Amino acid sequence: MTLTAEFERVALPLEHAFTIARGTTATAENVVVRIRDGDGNTGVGAAAPSAHYGETVGTVEAVLPDLLSVVERVGDPHALARIEDGMRAVVNHNPAARAAVSIALHDLAAKRAGLPLYEYWGLDPADSLTSSFTIGIDDMEAVREKTREAVDAGYTTLKVKLGTERDERILATVRDEAPDATIRVDANEAWSPLEAVRKIETAADYDVEFVEQPVAAENYEGLEFVHERAALPIAADESCVTAADVPRIADRVDIANLKLMKTGGLREAKRLIHTARAHGLEVMCGCMIESDAAIAAACHLAPLLDYVDLDGSLLLADDPYRGVPMDGGYVDLEGLDRPGTGAIEE
Ligand SMILES: [Mg+2]
Repeated sequence: MTLTAEFERVALPLEHAFTIARGTTATAENVVVRIRDGDGNTGVGAAAPSAHYGETVGTVEAVLPDLLSVVERVGDPHALARIEDGMRAVVNHNPAARAAVSIALHDLAAKRAGLPLYEYWGLDPADSLTSSFTIGIDDMEAVREKTREAVDAGYTTLKVKLGTERDERILATVRDEAPDATIRVDANEAWSPLEAVRKIETAADYDVEFVEQPVAAENYEGLEFVHERAALPIAADESCVTAADVPRIADRVDIANLKLMKTGGLREAKRLIHTARAHGLEVMCGCMIESDAAIAAACHLAPLLDYVDLDGSLLLADDPYRGVPMDGGYVDLEGLDRPGTGAIEE
């Protein structure tokens, strides 16, 4: 079969400028990939490159021709393992670029089967989960306002970005505006181990569910120090990139947080999920600031997970794609009425 592929850079302005401990984003840039078969089906995916992992839209565009030549050479949209292994042989790094192709291929394969991706995988949509909605770092008035907006929009689970001098005030403000919400915290590596133990103790006073990446990614001793003393469960995000990282973090955290833009695709994401479970960890799926062209695929992993943080497209002012319905954050796989990942251009 002849498969043809193309890609295109898209600018995605955010509803509000989004700040985490590392910096601020006002507009995200993704690269959308489309793969067509000869039967009128098109699979769509997107790369949301992160400078933190050494990628930009420029590096994605630089390697996509080599990745897509593997797709065209294999020429079978159902040969997911062969194509993903082939891509890895050509480009070992650049996970966001490989993820975009993996997503588009899975979308195409499921569309050809006439099934939503979760059904193509045989997963039970009744096991789906509710995603958190993220409150970025901001001045106190804006934190209060964004929390109020999120609660009014029906979000019941909030993720609060910390890593500032005002961490407790931010948390107190969110809790005040959202007394009934489930609250998670993400420090994005900002704390020292000692500081983390103290801050997590404070977070427990505000009834926080768990704390993500308290200390620097490679500080495994620090992670262990925090884990032994922490008042709350700990999730690894920056410390957990691919399945190969799981054994190293297994006794040092409680939850592994995967992202398609770190694993380089859906097959490695599933490997990470099963590896983490075998090591006794709970598993969560997060995202970058991503179009629904990418988020829609991650939604189909929800039945395999314990927590989802898939609000990447909910933070956008304008997304050319729409994916799995996520009213109030619930990943409504049963409400999806079309095959593939569900990503369609508006
Ligand atoms: Mg995180």
